[in-house]
Amino acid sequence: MVDLIRVWEEKVRLVSMLEDKLGEREIEEAGRDSHAHRLPRPCGLTVHTGIGCNFGCLYCYIYDMGFPSTPRPYPLKGLQLAYALALNPAVAPGHHGTFMAFGSVTEPFMDETVERALEYLDAVAGILGNPIQLSTKAWINDELAARIRSIPDHLSILVTIVTTSLHEMLEPGAPDPEERFQSIRILSRRGVHTCLFLRPILPGLCEKEVEDILVRALDSGAAGVVLGSMRVTGGIIRRLEAVGYPYMREIFSRIPVDLKPGVQVTLRMSDLKGRFARLAVELGLRVYPSACAANVDAHGLGCVACKSGPCGDVNKLPDVEEHDLRELSAKYGLSLEKVMIDERGIFLAVKGPRARIAQFREFVKSVCKRRVIVR
Ligand code: SF4
Ligand code: SF4
Repeated sequence: MVDLIRVWEEKVRLVSMLEDKLGEREIEEAGRDSHAHRLPRPCGLTVHTGIGCNFGCLYCYIYDMGFPSTPRPYPLKGLQLAYALALNPAVAPGHHGTFMAFGSVTEPFMDETVERALEYLDAVAGILGNPIQLSTKAWINDELAARIRSIPDHLSILVTIVTTSLHEMLEPGAPDPEERFQSIRILSRRGVHTCLFLRPILPGLCEKEVEDILVRALDSGAAGVVLGSMRVTGGIIRRLEAVGYPYMREIFSRIPVDLKPGVQVTLRMSDLKGRFARLAVELGLRVYPSACAANVDAHGLGCVACKSGPCGDVNKLPDVEEHDLRELSAKYGLSLEKVMIDERGIFLAVKGPRARIAQFREFVKSVCKRRVIVR
């Protein structure tokens, strides 16, 4: 039984417990940090283990977002990160709480940041208890795999491999894909839920390599595959052209709109994703519609929070009580005027400040694992 109000009370308890452990300056620093304020993305709340990345993937958008190519560990210590997340009004703690996504704007296991990443994993899993997914291209040896395996409630790990032939051109600072297949093998042997992350699908190139990559991931013990579209910016196009990437025409033919400075555009890829998904199933590999779906499965949860679902075990969906929604909305200082709950989701008419409504909606969506439609 999952109870919205109990989850809220646990959040309040965690904030107060962590405040007792931190100094005044540490509390202030964590309270100002973006982890205490950001809304979760569809895959979960992104946790930054470092600032910047030196793997230098040419298809990566972080450099256009202003992140440096010389990485440094994220400045908060583990307890501060846990505090910032517990403080975030949009975040629900616990096994039934907000998904945490490591590895979205940096590689967690670079030499420069691996210890910070492990510290954060321990803090999030051990103190808050949220389900964690982590994407990586790093070489994970047996020692690192053992440390990952020892993290409470386990992780959903996604190992990214998108090419085995052009990796030196496209991912100049990342470990060889052979090592990444090994990482899948080592993690899987240790009992860590590990999937192949075929993202971004690179049009032109991936069609040629996909079967080999899927077969090798399966042979290495992958629990499934997550397929993801390519996003481009003007910067990514320039970098790919500069190194002579041979499939530019295929990329250009899939850009749906004119590129504008600083804007990421997702390529039209539903045909390729569909083809690759069918191939994966034929080969005997489970296909997850997104990273959060693998996370749900790894943690024995169920979710119908978006149209890609249902994911996981829908018998595990928590009950939703109208009086809990009313009580919770009052804690957010909102006025809940109407509630309707059916198999399509939770429909709410809410009055109050927009930002507060968005935080309330995310909290409810995380815990109830259902679509939340607010008007
Ligand atoms: S490893 Fe990830 S974050 Fe780093 S450059 Fe490559 S895609 Fe970007
Ligand atoms: S329904 Fe599936 S894809 Fe959608 S948010 Fe839930 S886990 Fe993710």
